[in-house]
Amino acid sequence: MASNLNPFENAQQEIKRAVTRLGMHPAVYEILKQPMKVLTVVIPVQMDDGSIKVFTGYRAQHNNAPGPYKGGIRFHPDVTLDEVKALAMWMTFKCGVVGLPYGGGKGGVACNPKELSRGELERLSRGYIRAVAEVVGAEKDIPAPDVYTNPQIMAWMMDEFSQLKGYNEFGVITGKPLVVGGSAGRNEATARGCSIVVREAAKTLGFSLKGATVAVQGFGNAGSIVARLLHAEGCRIVAVVDSTGGAYNPAGMDPGRLSEHKVKTGSVKGYPGTKSVSSAELLTMECDILVPAALENQITASVASQVKAKIVAEAANGPTTPDGDRVLTQQGVFLIPDILASAGGVTVSYFEWVQNNMGYYWTEQEVNERLEAIMVKGFQEVLTMKKLGKDIDMRLAAYMVAVKRVADAMAVRGWLGNTTSQVAKMEVKPA
Ligand code: GLU
Repeated sequence: MASNLNPFENAQQEIKRAVTRLGMHPAVYEILKQPMKVLTVVIPVQMDDGSIKVFTGYRAQHNNAPGPYKGGIRFHPDVTLDEVKALAMWMTFKCGVVGLPYGGGKGGVACNPKELSRGELERLSRGYIRAVAEVVGAEKDIPAPDVYTNPQIMAWMMDEFSQLKGYNEFGVITGKPLVVGGSAGRNEATARGCSIVVREAAKTLGFSLKGATVAVQGFGNAGSIVARLLHAEGCRIVAVVDSTGGAYNPAGMDPGRLSEHKVKTGSVKGYPGTKSVSSAELLTMECDILVPAALENQITASVASQVKAKIVAEAANGPTTPDGDRVLTQQGVFLIPDILASAGGVTVSYFEWVQNNMGYYWTEQEVNERLEAIMVKGFQEVLTMKKLGKDIDMRLAAYMVAVKRVADAMAVRGWLGNTTSQVAKMEVKPA
């Protein structure tokens, strides 16, 4: 992997830029450049044919100065310790940028869930949470769904953990089904958060979402729901791609019908009245808003030089490389960075945990109103930070807001020794 495609190194670069620009003590970077704790576990699982398969799992805990570690669990064949460490780091800043009382964590198991039976998946899920039980808990570290994990898996893990403890601990995990302490609105939350910040960005740039053209890369939980929500705001969804193909219609498409087509045929490709489009074509096509909602490292420098969108809203984690970032900035593209654009999911996870702690549950409307308030405030804080200097782009601004929050928490807790007062009182210097 080329160095600029290593998500862990990319995340470190962003932190370094933010710490330097904020004029902070280098100790802040030394603490934040790595996870505070990492656990590797071995999970033996009895397969349906009676054999034993041994899986490797991880939990990385990046920083817990602002509150318990928080972040999902990924089940994917390519899971590595480095990836989990980077994702844990991103979670600290995702929570920080919108001001949630959490630090960041992430877990993963190297496995292919598509090849596991339901029984095998349940045994693996229970085995994983038993193996990391010592380091997780409602006040310690709170996992959630991530790539290829879902509410059912969260329910098994919550159940296993509760059985170990001898009482129900719903708050140990979020993204659960509604009947066992899940929150209304959690499923849509990542996409809803993204569509809220897109609306704020359009307002900032002075254009209306009515009739604005949108291209979405990825049609999973985030991409398909972002398309639906932006369509409801009056946008024209002109192109979408998933891992099997794409659909393009300059007159716009109905995302609800597109989802039905995907359920029926397994792909968005071939949706009536559309032309086929590739992922590379989609990223560089004429449109007002581009939403990368798929994988890491999609917008490289050469792709970025051809991006025509006015707004790029990163619903995925890490879709733009650092080189791509620089080119987008030079071209005057308004970027809504991943740690902000994808913070809606963990925000409603936080609401779920709060509701579990209270034992009292909110309506979907209450959840959505609270999400809206947090996302708008986060967006405005990042924009204000950006305006402090012409060398501050939206990604750096987002990291500066987040790093400052985490560093302040570390400082008042005494983790920075006699640099404390310097960091806690620090103001951002205008350029
Ligand atoms: N896995 C999601 C993310 O990367 C959600 C994490 C959570 O809800 O804790 O943001």
